[in-house]
Amino acid sequence: MTITSSPAAFKGATPVALERFGRLPRPDLTYTPEVAEATAPIYEKLKHIIPAIEWPALAPTIHAINLLKKQRNAVILAHNYMTPDIYHGVADIVGDSLQLAIEATRTDAQVIVQCGVHFMAETSKILSPEKTVLIPDMRAGCSLAESITGADVRALRERNPGVPIITYVNTSADVKAECDICCTSSNALEVVESFGVDRVFLIPDKYLAANVGNKTDVEVLVWDGACEVHERFTAKELRDYRKIEPDIKIIAHPECPPEVVAEADFAGSTAHMIDWVKTRKPEKVMMITECSMADNVASETPGVNYIRPCNLCPHMKRITLDKILDTLVEMKEEVVVDPVVAEKARVAVERMINLKKN
Ligand code: SF4
Repeated sequence: MTITSSPAAFKGATPVALERFGRLPRPDLTYTPEVAEATAPIYEKLKHIIPAIEWPALAPTIHAINLLKKQRNAVILAHNYMTPDIYHGVADIVGDSLQLAIEATRTDAQVIVQCGVHFMAETSKILSPEKTVLIPDMRAGCSLAESITGADVRALRERNPGVPIITYVNTSADVKAECDICCTSSNALEVVESFGVDRVFLIPDKYLAANVGNKTDVEVLVWDGACEVHERFTAKELRDYRKIEPDIKIIAHPECPPEVVAEADFAGSTAHMIDWVKTRKPEKVMMITECSMADNVASETPGVNYIRPCNLCPHMKRITLDKILDTLVEMKEEVVVDPVVAEKARVAVERMINLKKN
């Protein structure tokens, strides 16, 4: 798998976190009465998903990570698709990719451990160049980010002079640097309409672009990329679930194909999906997105029954507790972005953030 704009691709800087911060001794991972007591409140949030018999195997690592964070003056940012042991056990901030990048700029912590995929860590680094950004597994990629390069965007611009190019946040820094503005699944429609023109490109997710195009008079031109997790859901699958559970509410992510979104009661970003369930508190709900979302929200929405037809993101699942622990001990897997690229990419991301403020 190729990850564009990874340290391997950018040879202008060497990761220096280990040199700067040094290695720490590996913590003892014994399940002691102190560990049991310190992690009891965390287990309360996880008991619906982790059997009690498994807790002594997990708790020492969770406890050690939480101590290491303090020693390192580090903050853990976890995407909504992280497994519940990470999401509820060690994360300081959880959210969608944009929420995490914005939070990265607000924290006083010197070190950010990004529990998500590579483009998310890059976005944090772009917005917080002075901070050390680590990712527990550098191979955590994304089928959308890998579908397009900066050179592809330059070629697109040459062939379509004057047409604004909007990039979904799920792209590398190289791609963001070539685009006019960034967007997320929460604000894509607003960004598309902000140009006041008849045609725009929204790259690289052809389904997100089609879903946005269905809501606006602006012609939304697409790139042939897709999320390998969301494109596997089908409208027939949803109709079949409704036959079995007629009173179910179905909410879908706009990275799903348009016919899937058309079958859903609501479509929105991961943050919007969570808000929807928390506010509406449906009796039965099905989240058409990555597996871990329902697991993570379940403990915060008692009384809601989750039907879980889920697809797993293999890239997100590369991030594990053991790798987070290694990252904090060894200060390895540092995300570096060419400063020239980062500067241009920051303009695209900040334009979107400023649009949100207006
Ligand atoms: S769920 Fe899809 S969009 Fe998100 S990281 Fe995985 S492949 Fe990329």
